Amino acid sequence: MPETPTLSKSRYMAGWQCPLKLWYECFCPDLAQPADEASLARRQEGDEVGALARQRFPGALVTAGWDRPSEAREETRRLMADPSVNAIHEAAFEFEGATARVDILRRNDDGTWDLIEVKSVGEAEDVHRRDASFQRWLLGKAGIPMSRTWLMVLNKAYRYQGGALDLTQLFRMIDLSACAERVAPGIEQEVVRFRAVLGASDGPKVSPSSHCYEPYECAYLQHCTAHWPKVDHPVEWLPSYGGKTSMKAHQAGTHSMMDLPPERLNALQRRVLDCYKAQSPWVGSGLAKALEAFTFPIHFLDFETVSSAIPRLVGSGPYEAIPFQWSCHTLDEQGRLTHHEYLVDDTSYPREKLFTALLEVLGEAGTICVYYAAFERGKFKDAIREHPHLAERLQPAIDRIVDLHPIVKEHVYHPAFYGSFSIKWVLPALVPELSYKELAVQDGMAAVRGFLDMLGTTDPEAREAKRKDLLDYCGLDTLAMVKVREALIRLAQTH
Ligand code: SF4
Repeated sequence: MPETPTLSKSRYMAGWQCPLKLWYECFCPDLAQPADEASLARRQEGDEVGALARQRFPGALVTAGWDRPSEAREETRRLMADPSVNAIHEAAFEFEGATARVDILRRNDDGTWDLIEVKSVGEAEDVHRRDASFQRWLLGKAGIPMSRTWLMVLNKAYRYQGGALDLTQLFRMIDLSACAERVAPGIEQEVVRFRAVLGASDGPKVSPSSHCYEPYECAYLQHCTAHWPKVDHPVEWLPSYGGKTSMKAHQAGTHSMMDLPPERLNALQRRVLDCYKAQSPWVGSGLAKALEAFTFPIHFLDFETVSSAIPRLVGSGPYEAIPFQWSCHTLDEQGRLTHHEYLVDDTSYPREKLFTALLEVLGEAGTICVYYAAFERGKFKDAIREHPHLAERLQPAIDRIVDLHPIVKEHVYHPAFYGSFSIKWVLPALVPELSYKELAVQDGMAAVRGFLDMLGTTDPEAREAKRKDLLDYCGLDTLAMVKVREALIRLAQTH
């Protein structure tokens, strides 16, 4: 009988989501969808946050890797026995087949230890509490004299002042000691259950359901749903019918939107369903009236924002979305189109300069057309809060904003929207000759990566290439709005 594999912390967390996921993680990891770019970027950011957390509590690192668990535990024992070591990074423990590596184990004066789990998040969620509590349970069982259990997260109130990060302010500590104690009996039972899963020759029978999205979308989703029939009109093409909602329909055996009872859908979803049944675009009678909201000159405006766990722009905080770029196409009454743009090119606080330049372009007249006004309004309001002296000019600009998104959503549907009213889907459907496909930067996330790369490089050529890619992308975002509005005018005239 082969030995039951160990239950590491990450396997425990997989089992906490789904026992089948735990089994796959151990025996068939190749069935998982490869991590996408966004997940890889988050992972890299997590590693950077972890390195800074270790600097906050300097100590000795357990150097033996995950592939040498006994050595790692022996190294941990040696470091714990050395009173000159105040903190141990990546300390390794085992108890009856359950294992964990602790981010930071801090020595207290009374001979007890504090466990510190580091997360690159701003707030504690259940998944983080469970993660730390599992480790605390294991260390207690392994006979380590424990004191407190901490979650070390990013302090969103911190503002980067330039130069070296202030690590005492970048992080904040959340005491999870009481929580860890409360959930310990449940963890003990789960560990027994999960060990049994790992000891079985077959994976447990689990059907996909809403749990596949909690706390994270499971990497085995594609594999677990591969037997679902392929249909021409998947339920996911209905607006707001993805994720957990569509999962309920699939569980009930309904995979095509054509089989959904219309009375269970909202008005927008029914309209979309009717549109696919008719196989033709739908144009509402109120479109022409809605387009009257624009007055010349029309300024088509879009911001790109950067939000990173570790703040890199002076004055910004962890995960604060601050604009680093804007593009503005201005259309006058004679049909002349002009273009202005702005891109921050150093790490100085960009907001005041960026908005001052924008106000010059926006002038005092005409509509400011955006796509998703809540976002742009929010950025203007942030700028007012940070620079009250600009309020007199920024507030009237906010009042001139007209949102193109609800105009599309309420008055037009095209089968090629595939259930989304994002400009990335609306543009190719209504203006097929214009596309993001040729661009080096094709979405907001790639723009953020490009921007951070641009700031990080000292090679002038590479910097210029990144800069051009970013300007091309943001420029197309606003040209897209110009062209979508033109397409809407044509639709209003012909329907
Ligand atoms: S997709 Fe769902 S059912 Fe399949 S392993 Fe993941 S969580 Fe479990």
